[in-house]
Order: sequence, then structure tokens, then C-alpha cells
Amino acid sequence: MTFPRLRFGLAANRLHHESPGAALFKWLERSGPAIRELGVELRAVGRTYHAIEHSGLLAGYRGLLRYPYGRDGGLMKLVAHIPQRPGGEPALDGAIYLIDPVDPSSIFPEALALKRQCVTHGKPFISTLAGAVEWIEVERLHAGLGLSAGQAARQAFDFAAQTVALIAHDALKDQMVDFADSHFELLSRFAARVGTGTTSGRLNAMAWSRGWPRERPWVQPYLSGPLGGDAQIAELVLEGRCQRVIFFEDPHVARQHEADIQLLERAVRVVTATATCATSPAVAYKWAQAMELLA
Ligand code: PGA
Repeated sequence: MTFPRLRFGLAANRLHHESPGAALFKWLERSGPAIRELGVELRAVGRTYHAIEHSGLLAGYRGLLRYPYGRDGGLMKLVAHIPQRPGGEPALDGAIYLIDPVDPSSIFPEALALKRQCVTHGKPFISTLAGAVEWIEVERLHAGLGLSAGQAARQAFDFAAQTVALIAHDALKDQMVDFADSHFELLSRFAARVGTGTTSGRLNAMAWSRGWPRERPWVQPYLSGPLGGDAQIAELVLEGRCQRVIFFEDPHVARQHEADIQLLERAVRVVTATATCATSPAVAYKWAQAMELLA
């Protein structure tokens, strides 16, 4: 096997690395063996790197690399390493940034740019504990290694007990319909689907054209995003009534309801242990293909 098989940027806000039970350590407890077996290089910004070193959870692992402290530009360097790099240096395959939504540094420009570059280049931007555990399993499945042992990962794959939100900005609505059409069985396994107004309308039309019973919508529609739909779905997330958000974001236009979009993503991070968010078609397809390998 070539090492590393994958390269991920890694950062965690203070809340997520300051105490022994913090999300960073929970992730490494659950995913550490899988990270080693898969060969994931983790490029961790200063304080996050030191917290991992101190925990001993990746002791002796050659795939843990240190980037500068945040104040010295560590997160900025991660952003620069998401797109293709000059001189043939390998780019990062994605970023895991365990975000505490009330930590001011989580909305610094470099934090927003890290997500934006991931979305733009179709790479995973993983901001919750549940998302980080799951994504390692997604990569394992694609590498033919199967799920790693442990119930934590398996519970997350019990879709019949979950609700998924499906949302797409205008330029990506066709892609959302194509995604939902090509993974219809998988998405239909969820206990429920919810969506913002216009996206739901498109998805229900697709489902009905496939023979889904007319009398019940495939996707439960909420208000249109700009009219409050993102906030309504955020409340479901906060109350544990929606565990997964698949949001095809358009990074190339100014959005008049930017605050609502950010609000929804921040809600997902409030319930970091149980909720995940996929923000681009490439990431959603990769997730869905992995889940179909499980079936
Ligand atoms: P819409 O909302 O599905 O009603 O267009 C999408 C969004 O949240 O921007």
C-alpha cells in the first residue's frame, strides 16, 4: 500500500480539544485504528497537533504532521492546500475542522475560506464529530476495507431511524434532482426526508414520476430557504429530529440569505456528536456510493 493513501487537514476549536472527553479525542478513540489502517495523513494545526501528541492516541503514527499555530497562519495554509498546488505538491483530500459555533475563531475568514475551497473543489469539509467518524468509514468502504469494528459507526448507518434534509441552491437544483434520482432507494430508506420549499417541490415531482404514492410527499416541504426554511430545518437539527443535511451550496454567487445558510450549518455543529452535513454534490455522491456498498 502506498502511504499516505489520503491527506486531510485537521483543526479543532478549543472546546473540542481542551478536555479529555472532547470531540477530538472521541474521534481518535473511535477512528484511530481505522486512520492507521487506511493510511490517512493528518496535517494538524499547532494546538490541535499538540493536543493529539499529548493524548497519546496516535502514538508512533508517522501520518501525523504539524502545521503552524492558528495565530501563525496554520489554518490559512490549510486553505491554500485544498486546491491543486503548484510544483506538483499533493493537495489535501479534504478538511476536518471540529467547530464550536460560539468560538469566534470559527468564523474568521480563513475558517470560512477553508469550507468554501472544499465546496468549490468537491472535497469533504467535515465539521462535526459524527461527520468525522463517518467519513473515515466512507473512505474505508471505498478502499475495499469494509466498516471498522465498533457499534458507534454502525448506529450512524441505521437510516431507518434518521431524517435527512435535502437542500440545493438554484444553480444546483438539477444536480440535486439527479443525485436523489440516482440514489432513490438509499434516500427512501430514511424514516423521513425534509427540504426547503423549492428544492422539495423539484424532488417530489421526481419521486412522483418514479411512482412514489401521490398522496404523500417524498420530501416534507418547509418554507423556501430565503423565507425561513433553512432556519426551520435548523430547529429540527437542534431538537434531534434531523440528523443529516445534504446541502448543495453554490459558492460562486452572493446569497441574500447567507445568515440563514450559516445558521443551519451552525445548528449541525451544535449537535456535533449526532449530526452531519455534506455541502457539495461530489461529497454526497461519494457518501451515497459508500453506503450502497454496505447494503
Ligand atoms: P429553496 O431554498 O429550496 O426554497 O430554493 C434553498 C436555500 O436554502 O437556499
